[in-house]
Amino acid sequence: MSRADADLLIAGAGLAGSLVALACAAARPGLQITLIDAAEGPSDAHTWSFHDPDLTPVWHQRLDPALRARWKGQEVRFPDHARRLRAGYASLGGTGLARLVTDAGARVIWEHQVSQVDAGGIALAGGRRLTAPCVVDARGARTTPHLVTGFQKFVGLEIETDRPHGIQRPLIMDATVAQLDGYRFVYLLPFTPTRLLIEDTRYSDGAAMDDDALATAIGVYAAAHGWHGTEIRRERGVLPIALAHDAPAFWAEAAGGAVPVGLGAGLFHPVTGYSLPVAARVADTIAACDPLDSATAFAAVRDLALAKARADSFLRLLNRMLFRGCPPAQRHHVLSRFYRLPEALIERFYAGRLTPLDRLRIVTGKPPIPVRDALPCLREAPLLKETA
Ligand SMILES: Cc1cc2nc3c(=O)[nH]c(=O)nc-3n(C[C@H](O)[C@H](O)[C@H](O)COP(=O)(O)OP(=O)(O)OC[C@H]3O[C@@H](n4cnc5c(N)ncnc54)[C@H](O)[C@@H]3O)c2cc1C
Repeated sequence: MSRADADLLIAGAGLAGSLVALACAAARPGLQITLIDAAEGPSDAHTWSFHDPDLTPVWHQRLDPALRARWKGQEVRFPDHARRLRAGYASLGGTGLARLVTDAGARVIWEHQVSQVDAGGIALAGGRRLTAPCVVDARGARTTPHLVTGFQKFVGLEIETDRPHGIQRPLIMDATVAQLDGYRFVYLLPFTPTRLLIEDTRYSDGAAMDDDALATAIGVYAAAHGWHGTEIRRERGVLPIALAHDAPAFWAEAAGGAVPVGLGAGLFHPVTGYSLPVAARVADTIAACDPLDSATAFAAVRDLALAKARADSFLRLLNRMLFRGCPPAQRHHVLSRFYRLPEALIERFYAGRLTPLDRLRIVTGKPPIPVRDALPCLREAPLLKETA
């Protein structure tokens, strides 16, 4: 019998693949882990941010050396109110994360396109095949008929300002800006007193994005705040916002194959498109598998994903209310109202841990949109049928 090339093979060394590698390396010292990625190598073109309550203490400790910045609080601003929130915020850098993975003993093969992934191995574009008892597919976002989405689109410019910009903590939503192409807000991360990420974000019905127009809008916003400087880095994203999800159909279709993780497996926060907190939970789930093989890990991740999809049905309803029950120019009122709710509820919302009482609180009192407009949003099956 031929020996496997590794104990664990991971297609994709992005966020989800890296976290699986870190959790498995920590749980099983000496495990032979290989990640394969088409990218040229690690890059700081990407930062992944999270709220402190999103992660367990073990993950905080594990990711700490790769953080580009950590802040003690955060703010939001709307036309009718502003609020400072106590939850800390942090940003992880791409090169730092890649260093953690190799420091943990995993091997990363860059610049190799994966052409096919199955439960027993990975085929590379050149025809070579690598095998392992456990194979994880972490190749990132892809479209599937089982997930209907709206879009969170953004362009971010990191600038070095010619004098201190004066922003003390992340401003995760400045919705005092003109409302364009759906719900629009600006997001600010002050990495240093003279280094600022300015991101123009829109919650829109369509995926098309005019990057230049958003970059120009950022320039206008910066100039209005008196910030001038040099562009250091630019990022862009079109993230899925889940409106309807048939997770059982997705997992039935994937059965017998490699273990899907990350955005490609629908494992993200339905309202924000962010995936770091759930990627950490998925990584822990795989690391706890005994034996560590594709069938066992697939079953464990599928169970987690199905439970999450059920729990997220309320968040998808909120999204349908926002995208289908609310005219684009009015969407900011929904978010403004949400940010008046108790702080602990807001923290549980981002961490994906809303309680039944939290859900009731979000939709009662003054509902996010009039009941008349909410009624057609209640069922998600019709949306899935539209795309089938
Ligand atoms: C600009 C941007 C900023 C974001 N910021 C945040 C944030 O702050 N916080 C947060 O939680 N989420 C954030 N997200 C959302 C989401 O968490 C990220 O997209 C996250 O990287 C998704 O993780 P993933 O592992 O599924 O995919 P990725 O991290 O995209 O990893 C997929 C990897 O697979 C590789 N790959 C793809 N196809 C192949 C192939 N055929 N062969 C070999 N390799 C392949 C890619 O090169 C890539 O490295 C952001 C997204 C974007 C685009």
